[in-house]
Amino acid sequence: MTTQGLTIRGIELRRIRLPLVSPFRTSFGTQVERDLLLLRVETDEAEGWGECVAAEDPLYSSEYVDASADVLRRFLIPALSAHRGGAGIASAVDVGQALAPVKGHRMAKAALEMAVLDAELRALGRPLSRELGAVVDRVPSGVSVGIQDSVPQLLDAVGGYLDEGYARIKLKIEPGWDVEPVRAVRERFGDDVLLQVDANTAYTLRDARHLARLDPFDLLLIEQPLEEEDVLGHAELARRIRTPVCLDESIVSAQTAAAAITLGACSIINIKPGRVGGYLEARRIHDLAVAHGVAVWCGGMLETGIGRAANAALAALPGFTLPGDVSASGRFYATDITEPFVLDDGQIAVPTGPGLGVTPLPAILDEVTTATEWIPLG
Ligand SMILES: [Mg+2]
Repeated sequence: MTTQGLTIRGIELRRIRLPLVSPFRTSFGTQVERDLLLLRVETDEAEGWGECVAAEDPLYSSEYVDASADVLRRFLIPALSAHRGGAGIASAVDVGQALAPVKGHRMAKAALEMAVLDAELRALGRPLSRELGAVVDRVPSGVSVGIQDSVPQLLDAVGGYLDEGYARIKLKIEPGWDVEPVRAVRERFGDDVLLQVDANTAYTLRDARHLARLDPFDLLLIEQPLEEEDVLGHAELARRIRTPVCLDESIVSAQTAAAAITLGACSIINIKPGRVGGYLEARRIHDLAVAHGVAVWCGGMLETGIGRAANAALAALPGFTLPGDVSASGRFYATDITEPFVLDDGQIAVPTGPGLGVTPLPAILDEVTTATEWIPLG
């Protein structure tokens, strides 16, 4: 398929499996390894990489990695060449429209758009950060701390991350693990630590009075306390607690972001490009939030260096006024598949090379690959 700038020969789906440096527990489960899907777009001019953030199980959202691979092979990749009556996409900016007839599957769509965008930008010699509108070359790095077996273990973990220089701490919470861990972290490390919590939908509006007990701890925000579809519940909760409400799982598009903002369901948005269907939609949500005075920050989905590079580029946009979960590679992986991202004075450098600015290291990639599949594009 020939686009304006690219002749796409085909797309490789590549499954990899990476062990995590330590188990990562949230309110919906514990992960010990990352089984994920990478896409490589092969064109006459350049290669492009995409990372699908879907997890092995449909617990964070309805998407899961086997389903992503299936919808890509059967529906999304064929839709690229079928676009415009068989003429195919003319550019990466057409990918969203080409895939729109397929409902949902935003993580799979985001990965495909990312790979085409990377190839196109590499061919043009333009970095993704500049293309998106980045205004800084380094972004502050926050860390997400999973639910621990005990408060002393939590304090050890948080202390270690603060020693590494992380600019902000996020604690995963759930009923039974919320007020006390927050109090313990505040008492040990003081009021100056930038601190926030993430419930991953574990509460209901009936917990409003309990969640108000977090008010005295001066948290930056509470992330997604209620179910993803309970936007009105978040609006009501936001009136009952002082901690600012941030939405993650509920925001799947610029349209849902606009509704949530209008309803008063959030004063802050966690933008995850995979969750919203891609980096271009992520930028639209950024622009919308800026126009409404709503702060945004970039979330994380245990990305490898591929997704991490793109997230760092996005987090460099001007509306990203809170530190994101763009942490160093070593937070999750002893060996990343790219040159590792490292923490420098609490910050991560935004890649400057064309496209994502990083590529997988072939020897490491081969070691962690569990399957590959080539899908030619006519
Ligand atoms: Mg979250």
